[in-house]
Amino acid sequence: MFEKILIENQVKNYEIVKNIQQRLSVESEWIDSYQDYFSKVRKPYLHKRKRLNLFLAKREKGFIKTAPDAYGKEGGEHYYFSHSFNCIFECEYCYLQDSFRSPDIVLFVNHHDYLDAIEEKLVCGSSDNAIWMHAGEYSDSLALSGLTREWQQYFDLFSKYPHSRLELRTKSASLQYLKKCKPNKQTVLSFSISPHEIASSVDRKTPPVASRLKAMRTLKNLGFSVAIHLDPVVYHDRLAELYRELASQVYEQVGVGVEYVSVGVVRFPSHLYREVARNYPDSIIHTQPFLKSKDGMRRYPKVLRNRMLKSVRDAFLNQGFPESIMYDCMED
Ligand code: SF4
Repeated sequence: MFEKILIENQVKNYEIVKNIQQRLSVESEWIDSYQDYFSKVRKPYLHKRKRLNLFLAKREKGFIKTAPDAYGKEGGEHYYFSHSFNCIFECEYCYLQDSFRSPDIVLFVNHHDYLDAIEEKLVCGSSDNAIWMHAGEYSDSLALSGLTREWQQYFDLFSKYPHSRLELRTKSASLQYLKKCKPNKQTVLSFSISPHEIASSVDRKTPPVASRLKAMRTLKNLGFSVAIHLDPVVYHDRLAELYRELASQVYEQVGVGVEYVSVGVVRFPSHLYREVARNYPDSIIHTQPFLKSKDGMRRYPKVLRNRMLKSVRDAFLNQGFPESIMYDCMED
């Protein structure tokens, strides 16, 4: 998958860098700054289908950001952090189409700086004010975890703070690394899923939904908390029926004992919508019109959206998932 590893001189002696080099065994090149290449040379998004470069770099600042409203479950403080840019998967609705000038992967390897910044926030929290840290804003949190193997040090930090919560969002079903990690109460592994008929059309290069559910079950049995993102929900003529089937599959594979279930209908900022239309003109995403909402986002018409949200929610409620664990994600 990777053509070349480009390594910043300042991280070339990091243990994690040497390990990644060893695991990949592709050509390495040393550079001063990833920004001299990654943000300077425009590379069309769909070039990710051919070959990608991998940058190993040091992030200098901006380790944690405050999460927007409705990003996570209600209550507590919510932040996100991202120690990688871009993703090896290719979902047709992915916001990464418009986030960077290149689909190449950047991994920031100075985890000690991230951990320090996170701990600075966590020490300020109290037992009645959960502090959530959501990982993977600009990537999939676990897609490359077999290569990077960084999470145990995060789990160790969060386990020191009972009021803290760490969320890793993913569509990955690869557990080779996580199986070796020690679970803790603070970590939630959340999986984005949708019915097979929809996912097989729009979630390109991702593991099938059945594999994701199997991974959830395995992780739950290992002692991890798991959660579900029914987000984005994409229109389908048989939406209600397909989500009833999905709810039944989740019930059978994972049970109702999940931390939360978020529901969100597909939406785009206008500039991203143009990219999606250009990259995937025949996608099933476009079978309904997108209108501009008051918040500037492109969304399906409100009546349709409400109907879709109700169908999806009802499917999970009727299957026995408690209402208290369900929330709407990023609705206007
Ligand atoms: S898994 Fe997430 S980050 Fe990766 S392509 Fe799909 S939507 Fe984008």
